[in-house]
Amino acid sequence: MLEPVTKKFEDGSTLEIFKFTFFCDSCGKAVKEITYPYKPPFKAKFFISKSERKARELIWQSDHTSAYDRANKEVLLHFNRCPVCGRRVCDDCFNEVEGICHLCESKRESEKGVS
Ligand SMILES: [Zn+2]
Ligand SMILES: [Zn+2]
Repeated sequence: MLEPVTKKFEDGSTLEIFKFTFFCDSCGKAVKEITYPYKPPFKAKFFISKSERKARELIWQSDHTSAYDRANKEVLLHFNRCPVCGRRVCDDCFNEVEGICHLCESKRESEKGVS
């Protein structure tokens, strides 16, 4: 699996739903939760043999991995990537005019002040 887009990331996936939450690298707030309902490609049954259960788990895991990859691509639209520090931050932590995050902006400001 790929590294998640943001440093803080939660996976709340269950057998019914794939759920991924991504957090701002700067303030840590939850920016976007991406969910996909999971429709198992197998019928509901009362009795599942051990080997069938294992097979179902493997199918779920591979579907989960594709959902995870998809969520990581989709979530990029909801974040701003700071070109200076490389973090992915929410709109509140990003200066669209300067095109950098507020932390890098204030660093830049203080460097200006020194020189
Ligand atoms: Zn933020
Ligand atoms: Zn930055």
